[in-house]
Amino acid sequence: MSRSVGLTMISSLVLVVEDDEEIASLLEKYLARAGYRTTKASTGLAALAHVQRLQPDLILLDIGLPDIDGFDLLTKVRGSSTVPVIFLSAMDDSTDKLLGLKLGADDYVTKPFNPQEVVARVGAVLKRTRGVAASEVIRHDGVEVQLDSHIAIASTETGRLELPLTATEFRLLVCFVRSPFKTFERASLLDACMPESDALDRTVDTHIANLRRKLANGGQEGYIVAVRGIGYRFARSTGV
Ligand code: CA
Repeated sequence: MSRSVGLTMISSLVLVVEDDEEIASLLEKYLARAGYRTTKASTGLAALAHVQRLQPDLILLDIGLPDIDGFDLLTKVRGSSTVPVIFLSAMDDSTDKLLGLKLGADDYVTKPFNPQEVVARVGAVLKRTRGVAASEVIRHDGVEVQLDSHIAIASTETGRLELPLTATEFRLLVCFVRSPFKTFERASLLDACMPESDALDRTVDTHIANLRRKLANGGQEGYIVAVRGIGYRFARSTGV
């Protein structure tokens, strides 16, 4: 896909996951007409590969796929990504909708649908999720930190959970998620998380222990590795 000269923004990439060739083409046509780039997958397996490789800006997800249940696929996607998802449900079934939203979908459309309405929903969800991004959200693996609202969220296969962090723990987590592969000295972590305090370097160990436990409670086990003689790193320890 070439980039037009003079275009200030590359258009969003929408991944259409749908095994019905006719519906997929129809959606792609309408999305393209509205200025979106599209790609499609007709199986769950292909969809997962596309999510990894192409990092789409949004996924339109059909629930009835040949190889994997769309809800299972949504759960898998949410294990590693916060990409906006709108699912397409064949049934006008409220249980279905609730389940999809609970699993982390951003919106849903019931089949049969008006493609123009789907395009409008895509636009609305992208606008909404971009708004969140603009207020600075940083993430690493299954851990998400929303800076403005001071909210930390752990995403696992079973859903998204807000972590009950203290202000100090939150500031520590921000340091780590900003530089997930950096080893921090205790003193610099202390500076970052308790700037007005003259607490001892060892105080940091207690906060780290609490943060690590809360992350584990949120399904993010093994995070924050002690680096002997230096401090800590936000890597996930192996052998978990
Ligand atoms: Ca289908």
